[in-house]
This record gives sequence, C-alpha cells and structure tokens, in this order.
Amino acid sequence: DLGGQTAVITGSTSGIGAALADGLAAAGANIVLNGLGDEGEIEALRASLAEKHGVEVRYHSANMMKPDEIADLVAYAHSEFGRLDILVNNAGIQHVAKIEDFPVEKWDAIIAINLTSAFHTIRAAVPVMRGQGRGRIINLASAHALVASPFKAAYVAAKHGILGLTRTVALEVAEAGITVNAICPGYVKTPLVEGQIADTAKARGISEEEVVRDVMLKAQPTKKFVEYDQLVGLLLYLASDAGASCNGAAFPVDGGWTAA
Ligand code: NAD
Repeated sequence: DLGGQTAVITGSTSGIGAALADGLAAAGANIVLNGLGDEGEIEALRASLAEKHGVEVRYHSANMMKPDEIADLVAYAHSEFGRLDILVNNAGIQHVAKIEDFPVEKWDAIIAINLTSAFHTIRAAVPVMRGQGRGRIINLASAHALVASPFKAAYVAAKHGILGLTRTVALEVAEAGITVNAICPGYVKTPLVEGQIADTAKARGISEEEVVRDVMLKAQPTKKFVEYDQLVGLLLYLASDAGASCNGAAFPVDGGWTAA
C-alpha cells in the first residue's frame, strides 16, 4: 500500500511510463506525470487516473533534455505534496542506424533523455529522500543495459550508462534508507514498438508477423512480448518495504533474452 506516498514518473504520457503510473496510482500513490504529447490528451489521462484510483494526479511538462526544467519537475512534486517517495526514470527514445551514419544530434538527444535526465532527477531527489529517511529510485533501463544489438550505439551506450549510475548512487545512499535499482525489460508492445513493426515490415519487405517472430522476438526465448503488468509487479515490489534489501541491482524482465 503506497497510500500517502508521492511518485514522479518521467515519460509517463505513453507506453510503459503510463502503465507504471497507473500501477502506482492503483496502489494509492499520488502521481506527478511527465512527458510530451497533446495537451488535451495529457489532461484526459491525468483526470482519468485521478478518478479511477481516487488519488491526486498532477502533470509537469519538463523536457528531459533541459536540466533546469528537470530540476523544476522534482521541486514541483515536492512542493505540491510535501514529500517525494518514489522516482521512476522512464523517459526514453530510440534511433536505429549504423555507427558511421549515426546522426550526431540523435546521439546527443538519446544520451540526454535516456541517461543524463536521470542524473538530474536523482541529483535533485536524493536530498529530499535523505531528509525523509526513505526513498525508492527505479530506473527503466533495458535488456540493452546488459547486452548489445547492432545499429543501436546511442541507446545501448545510454542504457549501459544508466546501470552504472544506478549502481554508483545505490552505494552512496544505501545507509539513508534509499534504494536505487534498474528494471531491464525485453520487448514490450508499446506505441513506439507498434510503429516499428509496420516500418520494419515495409523496409524488409516481409509481413508484420515475420517482423515480430524473426526480428523482434528472435532474441526472446519465451517468444512473447513482455506485458505491462509484469513490469508493474516488479516496480511495486521494489517500491515496497519488502524491497528494502534490493539495492544497486539490475532486474531483467526479458523472457530469458539475457540468460543466453
Ligand atoms: P514510449 O515512446 O511509448 O514512451 C516514451 C515516453 O517518454 C513518452 O511519454 C514520451 O513523451 C517521453 N519522452 C520522450 N522524449 C521526452 C523528452 N524530451 N522529455 C520528456 N519526456 C519525453 O516508449 P516506451 O516503449 O514506453 O519506453 C519507455 C522506457 O522503457 C524507455 O526508457 C525505453 O528505453 C524503455 N524500454 C522500452 C522497451 C520496449 O520494448 N518498449 C524495452 C526496454 C526498455
């Protein structure tokens, strides 16, 4: 039961982040949403979460490429609710290209959004959590924090980096009642991945079924996408008192991908 706790989830207007926000709200936490998107759709999401779960839900529009706005997101959550218990660093983007063709601006954006934004949120959140004597920081890494795939240089570098950040901060805050962990999903059928299925089918001249089977799920021994609820279950465990001894760890939720 997370009643009375405050959770900030970056990139929670879509996909995994939206599902994690829903799971935290269902467990009773007050929520600060963040992410890009249509203003009206975000307001509808905010209102529906609040109504469905009977918790307070706010939205902050911080761009994860802008350090000042990121610091303001954390300060906003603290000032709105007077506490900050759970920080989920989830915002992320992808770009797929050969290293010699990799656009410099895509490299910079992926490192900023997928890695550096978590440095800024954590840096701002730790003093608040230290003051409370308790806190939970959960970083959405990836199977690509543990293994590589070709054509994803920036993404794999950022995800390996966020695991290093997870481990380092975990050591620094361990005695303060704060834990820092990484969830490492395999493929999840988010709007982002749905879009990639159609694009890849077109690019390779194969069917969407073949893309799913022969490209995406080839690496995943279960041959199934990871479901949102399976990530929510782990997140709620890590956020709970039962998760207090999990610190600095990487938790694969990838159907066995990184066991191979
Ligand atoms: P998504 O595109 O559905 O959601 C990404 C979220 O990040 C959106 O809310 C978007 O608005 C937000 N975002 C993007 N750029 C931003 C910016 N500059 N400032 C603020 N917010 C920004 O993607 P998803 O698949 O749900 O991915 C969420 C996280 O999970 C990412 O870190 C991703 O790397 C990770 N992940 C996804 C998968 C997968 O298969 N989908 C697998 C492993 C890890």
